[in-house]
Amino acid sequence: MALLAADPGARALAGGQTLINAMKARAGSPDALIDLGAIDELKGIELGTDGMLEIGAMTTYSELMASSEARARPILGEVCAQIADVQVRNRGTIGGNVCTNDPTNHLPPLLAAIAAEFVIRGREDSRTVSAADFFLGVYLTAVGPGEVLTTVRVPPGRRDGFAAVTLGVDGTCIVSAAASLNGHVRVALGCVDAVPVVLEPAADDDESVRGAVRGATFDPPSDVHASSAYRRHLAEVLAVRAVSAAGRR
Ligand SMILES: Cc1cc2nc3c(=O)[nH]c(=O)nc-3n(C[C@H](O)[C@H](O)[C@H](O)COP(=O)(O)OP(=O)(O)OC[C@H]3O[C@@H](n4cnc5c(N)ncnc54)[C@H](O)[C@@H]3O)c2cc1C
Repeated sequence: MALLAADPGARALAGGQTLINAMKARAGSPDALIDLGAIDELKGIELGTDGMLEIGAMTTYSELMASSEARARPILGEVCAQIADVQVRNRGTIGGNVCTNDPTNHLPPLLAAIAAEFVIRGREDSRTVSAADFFLGVYLTAVGPGEVLTTVRVPPGRRDGFAAVTLGVDGTCIVSAAASLNGHVRVALGCVDAVPVVLEPAADDDESVRGAVRGATFDPPSDVHASSAYRRHLAEVLAVRAVSAAGRR
């Protein structure tokens, strides 16, 4: 924390699967990299006494996939298994994934749908924020300069689903949707706006889910992979698929 605070141009280094690539492309050139890799307090997955999963920010996708504790929320390991390739899964971390807040990343919509909480530590104290307060914009989160994300807290639950259209097998998402039917219906859409778009359809039938997507305000980008209109269409289709997958659990 002292090293990060001492230099406003310093950046935390987690798995390096985004940051090092950004540096190689000359899109970023931090003054210093503070490697979080040796900090044991940022690793590990535990089931708290309140039933919440406590996932250290430096936990890799592969560790989440292999963890017996993480089976308290099976969708976590299932979606991590869809991210890129084995090299990326062995290095990339849950903390790095959400701190990047790249709209095409798999975990921001998933964690928004399953009501995860994010523990952010500054030099003086720490605070816990919801997904609505964590994801602020493209590449922008509530983690401020000199702060680190230490833990992602996830309530237990099984009735979750995830659906995406990707660029090739295990590729980057063009649009994604995550759904949770634990208690009430919550859907989060990815790649259609700067932050995950969270919807709460009145029921889990196809028409209610489609209606909630149609009624939501979001502004999908157009790029070489998909037009804005096609992304809007996919959002409806994938929201229904994610809810239907959750309903089969
Ligand atoms: C070929 C390839 C394909 C990929 N495909 C996908 C994909 O399909 N889906 C997907 O979701 N991701 C994909 N990724 C991105 C990958 O998941 C990255 O691992 C992830 O985006 C960043 O995690 P990281 O641990 O590597 O973080 P880093 O690259 O080390 O850090 C990313 C950013 O987060 C900050 N940061 C990291 N941890 C913390 C922390 N604890 N507190 C504060 N700030 C922190 C860093 O300072 C940096 O700004 C892909 C990456 C590659 C190389």
